[in-house]
Amino acid sequence: MKTAFGILTLAVATLLCGQLAAAGLDVAGAQSQVDALFNRQYPQLEALYRDLHQHPELAFEETRTAGKLAGEMRALGFEVTEGVGRTGLVALLRNGKGPTVMVRTELDGLPVQEESGLPYASRDRVQYNGAETPTMHACGHDVHMAAWVGTARTLAAMKDRWQGTLMFIAQPAEERVSGAKAMLEDGLFQRFPKPDLGFALHTMPHAWDQILYRGGPMTSNASGLAIHFHGRGGHGSNPSTTIDPVLMASRFVVDVQGVVSREKDPAAFGVVTIGAIQGGSAGNIIPDNVIVRGTVRSFSDDVHARLHDGIRRTANSVATMAGAPAPAITLDNGVKSVINDEALAARTGALFSQAFGAKALLMPAAWSGGEDYSEFVAAGVPSLYFGIGIYDPVRVAETRAAGTSLPANHSPQFAPDDPRPTLRTGVMALSLAVLDALR
Ligand SMILES: [Zn+2]
Ligand SMILES: [Zn+2]
Repeated sequence: MKTAFGILTLAVATLLCGQLAAAGLDVAGAQSQVDALFNRQYPQLEALYRDLHQHPELAFEETRTAGKLAGEMRALGFEVTEGVGRTGLVALLRNGKGPTVMVRTELDGLPVQEESGLPYASRDRVQYNGAETPTMHACGHDVHMAAWVGTARTLAAMKDRWQGTLMFIAQPAEERVSGAKAMLEDGLFQRFPKPDLGFALHTMPHAWDQILYRGGPMTSNASGLAIHFHGRGGHGSNPSTTIDPVLMASRFVVDVQGVVSREKDPAAFGVVTIGAIQGGSAGNIIPDNVIVRGTVRSFSDDVHARLHDGIRRTANSVATMAGAPAPAITLDNGVKSVINDEALAARTGALFSQAFGAKALLMPAAWSGGEDYSEFVAAGVPSLYFGIGIYDPVRVAETRAAGTSLPANHSPQFAPDDPRPTLRTGVMALSLAVLDALR
């Protein structure tokens, strides 16, 4: 009975595997080939990674970085165009008839003083807002660039296993959520082929063997707010002769949270954070003006519109209560949520599960971070934007058990424990995803 059941199970399993192999990519075969190519190129890749890590450049100033990537891609036989969207670049590799698949990396670092303690930590400084500022790849864009080059090298060496066009793009100024738009406005999808599909990855404070993905919203709608409350200044001892903008700003900061808790669906994600208040010079002087700055986050346009509406009403009401002129309210368009294509997420997600097992995680909810990859999606490129981890899984487990957390993106300590496993995960995931799309 036991044996017969075993044979039956084996027969069913063989049948299923046969169907999968016929319908899809030979994942195990592709995986071992990608691994062999990765191991062969690793010393070169690590040298590139370290170089990029040591020399981060800020938004729209990534000329050295873009030059490095252009050199790498030309050496692989890609046709490279530089200066797309100011400092961006586009690299094409045509390999017969078939779809065009886009793979994006970002180029820019952040004005952060690195505190990773790594021997190859960045010591670079640049002029930023009129002051000398340290720079760091505190968002892992150096990892993304190395994984992007590693994937390009892998796919160039596996040309017999895919057909179509690779369109590798390196985008400037992701941290200012303006580089994607700059590339599109520079004719990205007119001067170059419009991709049929797109992929991008982002590092996250998770284990280095982990993949995180989902269909639908992946990142948040994010917009900035600035409100200038106009009062009438005077002596702190004589408030009745003044209109106090500090009181208006204080009321606004507290009352605007009522918009979040009362006016949107409590089950829907939405955040209003006031991160800066500027006004006044001394404790006994009521100033003329106070400026309040913040950020608004949501996953849906409807929630975002409600939050914007509530912010406007609250700011105006606070001024009316004080008998002050209407405040100047600036709510920018910010950046839209990256919406992953459901079908592509299901197909590539199944592939990730085969390749990474339980380490490929279907995320229950989107991230609250903003990302301008959404511009490419809005321009009509069905995409999968997914996450990879950077930390030693043992360290992740220990931190979780201790109830604490590891440094997240933009922290001065955000850097891979060891670039090799992180880059292996990135190169493997991107290579398999592209091979599957162009098989
Ligand atoms: Zn970032
Ligand atoms: Zn980033």
